[in-house]
Amino acid sequence: MTGGAGTAAHAPSWYAATALSQPDHPRLEGDVSCDVCVVGAGYTGLSAALHLAERGYDVVVLEAERVGWGASGRNGGQIVTGYNKPMGTIERWVGAEDARRLWDMGEEAKRLLADLVERHGIDCDLRWGYLFAALKDRQVRELAGMRDEWAEGYGYDRSRLVGRDEMGSFVATTKYVGGLLDHGGGQLHPLNYAIGLARAAAAAGARIFEGSRVEAVETGTAPMARTARGSVRARHLILAGNAYLRGLVPSVAAKIMPAGTYLIATEPLGENRAKGLIPDAVAVADVNVVLNYYRRSADHRLLFGGGVSYSGFDGPGLRQRLRKTMLGIFPQLEDARIDYCWGGHVAITMDRTPHFGRVGPSTYFAHGYSGHGVALAGLAGKLMAEAVAGTAERFDVFARLPHQSFPGGALLRTPALVLAMAWYRLRDLL
Ligand SMILES: Cc1cc2nc3c(=O)[nH]c(=O)nc-3n(C[C@H](O)[C@H](O)[C@H](O)COP(=O)(O)OP(=O)(O)OC[C@H]3O[C@@H](n4cnc5c(N)ncnc54)[C@H](O)[C@@H]3O)c2cc1C
Repeated sequence: MTGGAGTAAHAPSWYAATALSQPDHPRLEGDVSCDVCVVGAGYTGLSAALHLAERGYDVVVLEAERVGWGASGRNGGQIVTGYNKPMGTIERWVGAEDARRLWDMGEEAKRLLADLVERHGIDCDLRWGYLFAALKDRQVRELAGMRDEWAEGYGYDRSRLVGRDEMGSFVATTKYVGGLLDHGGGQLHPLNYAIGLARAAAAAGARIFEGSRVEAVETGTAPMARTARGSVRARHLILAGNAYLRGLVPSVAAKIMPAGTYLIATEPLGENRAKGLIPDAVAVADVNVVLNYYRRSADHRLLFGGGVSYSGFDGPGLRQRLRKTMLGIFPQLEDARIDYCWGGHVAITMDRTPHFGRVGPSTYFAHGYSGHGVALAGLAGKLMAEAVAGTAERFDVFARLPHQSFPGGALLRTPALVLAMAWYRLRDLL
């Protein structure tokens, strides 16, 4: 398996070092039954569990490792507006009406996140403000097109273009030639958000089991999930393992590619120095296909992410490579020690939009948010809860998004993608 618990990618993170206290949930022992069994305790599974438990369903969550162990506890913490595809492309795929619904639900995803944080008192450093940064004039034009598409097509008035001269007031670098400031995007402490969701789900009555890897599932009329020491029989099954679900259900895995992506955290820089880098504390990401993303932490570090690996290996010198990329943007950090380096697996689809669907009559899945899951995964869980409760219209808007399989199938998709990404990397340089 790519990047198991022992690899550099899954080394201890700054998030783990600053995590809220987290109860240990028991391992599943023996056979239990419930209304809904959820596989995976990231944002998708925890949100599904929370919304179902609030509706009165008896819910069991099975997590192979710990709550938030997957991408939800390791990510860049960036809350991004929209999808990883222009809305114009989505309109061509699904028509104007469904595209409008998808846009509206993308906006709802951010509101839901804010509402969950507030309603459940989740202490996760949530703050708003997001800067897309252009490294080339071509990217400035692309950002202007995106702003126009959002504003004219969907009435979104929360973003504005930032010129080359003004960029310096947001980020202390000369690298960028322009940007798009989005007041509707933001950032949070990802692991603490996951821990807070788990606490809320448990308080609403969901039973969470950790250290309980599902080794086999039955997805017929009476779904079942089996672990090494027990089983759960349920009326409905929700697969929320995302990039980590691997081959459990091959037809579900075929449409996503797990890709490794990584972060480093500097030593604490002190308030003034950190403020000097990003005065308004916006979250920042460039718009390369293989992008870099960064933000300030609450304890005044720079959390800097980027790099991507499709090959299945973390690669040597990960920490040094990321540091070098960071210094390309902030040479003034030459003397800053790197305290943490970690990563995880993000699930991307060929079409870069989320993949939702059913296997059999009462098994649902949602995954492949393609780098937009901090906001979208919580909504996905809520939509699966709606579907289980009998109202699948909104879930089905996502399920209608078309998805190609990766060329080469499960065996050859990695080499094919490595080639495609090599082309994109080249394009990023042009
Ligand atoms: C390094 C990194 C940076 C990222 N940065 C961003 C970002 O800045 N913004 C953004 O929007 N998105 C980002 N993402 C993506 C985002 O983190 C994900 O889209 C989101 O967390 C997905 O949540 P999830 O619950 O679907 O999956 P996960 O959080 O991965 O949870 C899946 C869980 O299922 C469990 N599981 C899998 N298989 C089984 C099994 N057989 N039995 C039991 N349990 C199982 C896993 O252990 C895991 O805990 C990033 C991802 C990574 C890895």
